[in-house]
Amino acid sequence: MDHSTLRSQFPALAQSNDGYPLCYLDTAATSQKPQLVIDAMNHYYQHDNANVHRAAHQLSARATTQYEAVRDQLRQFINASRREEIIFTHGTTEAINMVANGLAGQIKPGALILIDTAAHHANIVPWQELAKRTGALIKPIPLTADCRLDTAAYDALLRMQPAIVALSHVSNVLGTVNPVTELVAKAKQAGAITLVDGAQAIAHMHVDVQSIDCDFYVFSGHKMYGPTGIGVLYGRYKSLDSLSPLITGGEMIKTVSFENTVFNPLPNRLEAGTPPIAEVIGLGAAIDFINDLPSAQTHNNEQALMVYLQQSLTALGDIELYGAHADNLGAVAFNLTGEHHQDVGILLDQQGIAVRCGHHCAMPLMQSLQLKGCCRASIGVYTHKADIDRFIAAMQSVKELLL
Ligand code: PMP
Repeated sequence: MDHSTLRSQFPALAQSNDGYPLCYLDTAATSQKPQLVIDAMNHYYQHDNANVHRAAHQLSARATTQYEAVRDQLRQFINASRREEIIFTHGTTEAINMVANGLAGQIKPGALILIDTAAHHANIVPWQELAKRTGALIKPIPLTADCRLDTAAYDALLRMQPAIVALSHVSNVLGTVNPVTELVAKAKQAGAITLVDGAQAIAHMHVDVQSIDCDFYVFSGHKMYGPTGIGVLYGRYKSLDSLSPLITGGEMIKTVSFENTVFNPLPNRLEAGTPPIAEVIGLGAAIDFINDLPSAQTHNNEQALMVYLQQSLTALGDIELYGAHADNLGAVAFNLTGEHHQDVGILLDQQGIAVRCGHHCAMPLMQSLQLKGCCRASIGVYTHKADIDRFIAAMQSVKELLL
């Protein structure tokens, strides 16, 4: 498939704003959706709309078959060993909350929770709430000067035998990649429960949860060309089964009486209530879309674009890049020297360029970089070299205006 055919599958990219064709460089916030995802959700609502699991009628049977088939697709997509290890959530945030809340009974006062400094707030705040409830302590894993996770400091922290280690796979701000297989292996040796936030990794690399060997791996559908409102909590069966459910009610029970309730086995035990059925079906279509991409070629293209983006920004001059490495994925963080990130973002928007500016839900990272905020340009499979060239030309004009 050539690049323009691939790009033409994303209807939202075909628009212009104020006469400027859209140049979408905000994929890390949410990706655009291919037509087949939109069609799959519409088809469900038009033909198969029914609640799953409950009824004897054909519509419900069709909805249930499609819904459960996506669990199988996901099992294969991330190489989980069992379909029961895939739990549908509303997103990464909910998935991490489910784990943090579900572990409360296992965490003792004084237990240590390690979190990487570049973590998204979704991978910080739920652990802080857990710490408040249990008397556990949070310690950040510092970064090196070039914004990589400081492995020497990590090794030292592991000697304190943490109960939980929560890592990002790829930073949503910097695009830096944590060597999670290695980090998880060390955490396991130290006896910790491990969670990897894969929200920014899942669309840019092949994820194999058995090879990472973490207890929990979480991600959102909307960052991988799927709909909003759907996410995945993968957990090793035993680890998942040890969680107490965050939400209880219908669907997750075997029997209920006013004296006693018996929960269903996994995965239902952690999926109370009517799930986001259309969104699950849309996510299934997104996986089909990704599986149909020539994966090596896509990854090479994205990698080449990332390097081109970093080099073009550097060549522009008066640019500060943060944690830029050739092996980063998806995102580049930068500031125009001396200028406020919001001003840059607004001026870019006036030329049809969509980037994100602010703290990117990573205030501790901003503090460690001694920044109030920064701009972030992020790419997806539909991004073309011409998008980067337009962005750089727009940055040149912003620079001439502001400096
Ligand atoms: N973690 C990371 C690394 C993210 O980039 C995001 C989304 N910006 C989240 C967690 C939260 O994802 P969601 O808002 O889809 O729950």
